Amino acid sequence: MESVKAQSYDVHIDELAQAALNQHIAKNDYSKTFVLVDTNTKKYCLPAFEKKFEEPIDSIFEIEPGEENKNIQTCLQVWEQLSNFDGDRKSLLINLGGGVLTDLGGFVASTFKRGIDFINIPTTLLSMVDASIGGKTGVDLGSLKNQIGVINQPQMVLIFPEFLKTLDPRQIKSGYAEMLKHGLIKDKEYWDDLRRENIFEVASSIQKSIAIKNDVVMQDPTEKGLRKILNFGHTLGHAIESYCLENYDKKTLLHGEAIAIGMIMEGFLSHKLTGLSKLCLNEIKETFLQHFEKVDFDTNDMDAILKLLKYDKKNSHGNINFVLLQSIGVALTDIKVPENLFEEAFSYYK
Ligand code: NAD
Ligand code: ZN
Repeated sequence: MESVKAQSYDVHIDELAQAALNQHIAKNDYSKTFVLVDTNTKKYCLPAFEKKFEEPIDSIFEIEPGEENKNIQTCLQVWEQLSNFDGDRKSLLINLGGGVLTDLGGFVASTFKRGIDFINIPTTLLSMVDASIGGKTGVDLGSLKNQIGVINQPQMVLIFPEFLKTLDPRQIKSGYAEMLKHGLIKDKEYWDDLRRENIFEVASSIQKSIAIKNDVVMQDPTEKGLRKILNFGHTLGHAIESYCLENYDKKTLLHGEAIAIGMIMEGFLSHKLTGLSKLCLNEIKETFLQHFEKVDFDTNDMDAILKLLKYDKKNSHGNINFVLLQSIGVALTDIKVPENLFEEAFSYYK
């Protein structure tokens, strides 16, 4: 597979990734090399990584997995370890893990001694096709997601699809939802191909998804315009995700599971407002329902979710802005949606 040229760094896949990593280390005179893992990636990914990596590792830092640990306390632990192990400005941090770890590790590296080099090695499908690409790093503030952070690019991103073998099938599907999104917003042919593929054999499509996300990010790194299209399904999806997290009697949804619902509902809004055909809308709904179990929202749920919508970060001046589709492969940004359509969108999903 070819590498993808990103902003100031490259994304390498498989054998090329291994060669690129070893060349990079040989070329740069790093004083220390540190690897950040969580309990799961230490067990499932670190042994294979150590076989690929030729240079000595100075120390391995381990953090607890999970979104609940994506916070400043965990950063503090890693900063302290970097300091205790004599990390200096010429140190390198290799982030080996899912999106929680690459977001946090990227932020830790970007702020330690005003910034040291870091390399992302994403180990979940979601982090391979989404979280580790684009330079957004950061942590949560209490229950508010990604409130503290910086945009800073890694030295390189290395993709080893073999890591997906130990990943929970629900996590695979979560990443698959983001891949389908890439087709919906930018590439109809890719959407058609992905829909036909076996969900557990999508490794060969990772590169396409990365190229789409990267292309969008390169044109608009700071999300002034085009980059917003990556938020398709995320306006309602985020509200649904937060609601389910706070209401333990409801099923807790992974990010991709929530945005799959968001994409069905925002597909409906696209049909009403921006010209998406009925045929395409039905195709979107069928595709997601084939892979994601339906969640049973009642009127109370809907009211609470719509309340949360108002707190969505994309709202400006009291309006709720959506990314909607004109057709499959063509997304439009900053579309205002009349509130009465939200209820209809829920009914359509049900
Ligand atoms: P995650 O990092 O929590 O990983 C999911 C679980 O899988 C964890 O328990 C992890 O320890 C485990 N795991 C990781 N790799 C494994 C492997 N190969 N085998 C077995 N288990 C493994 O979740 P995620 O879905 O990768 O990432 C979600 C995070 O990504 C969120 O915090 C989200 O905000 C962030 N994100 C960031 C961006 C961005 O642009 N920076 C974009 C999308 C999402
Ligand atoms: Zn997402």
